[in-house]
Amino acid sequence: MPNDGMKSDGLIDEIKSRIDIHDLIAEYVDLKRAGQNYKGLCPFHSEKTPSFMVNPAKQIFHCFGCNKGGDIFSFIMNYENMPFNEALSFLAGKAGVQIEASHGSGANKGLKENLFAIHERRLSSTGRTSRRPGMHSHISRRGTSTRKQSSSSL
Ligand SMILES: [Zn+2]
Repeated sequence: MPNDGMKSDGLIDEIKSRIDIHDLIAEYVDLKRAGQNYKGLCPFHSEKTPSFMVNPAKQIFHCFGCNKGGDIFSFIMNYENMPFNEALSFLAGKAGVQIEASHGSGANKGLKENLFAIHERRLSSTGRTSRRPGMHSHISRRGTSTRKQSSSSL
């Protein structure tokens, strides 16, 4: 399906380029500068010492306490408890970006799901710790199932 992959991708980029993660999160969390990053009390778990970091260079946040992290979309999804498509509309609104046909048509839903996939894929390729233990564990080993021999293996 070579349809609106590029366009979707562009939309996310557009929104990200218009919204600075520090400005966004500063509306919710009291952030203090800490070197190149900003630090604050994590909004996702309760804590007394700030372990919530915002990295404006990479446009990501990360909490060392509860391990939540991601970009502006992840933040809004977690903070406002919104599904991706709502977070997208929310941020698009903030950014002044128009999402075509934003009235819940089926096609649009497809687009948003597509965006979500792109978003997730990007996140996992931008240095968020990959937590997929044993990813290779069930890569199929074909050819072991030719049953020439009788199945007496128990
Ligand atoms: Zn946290």
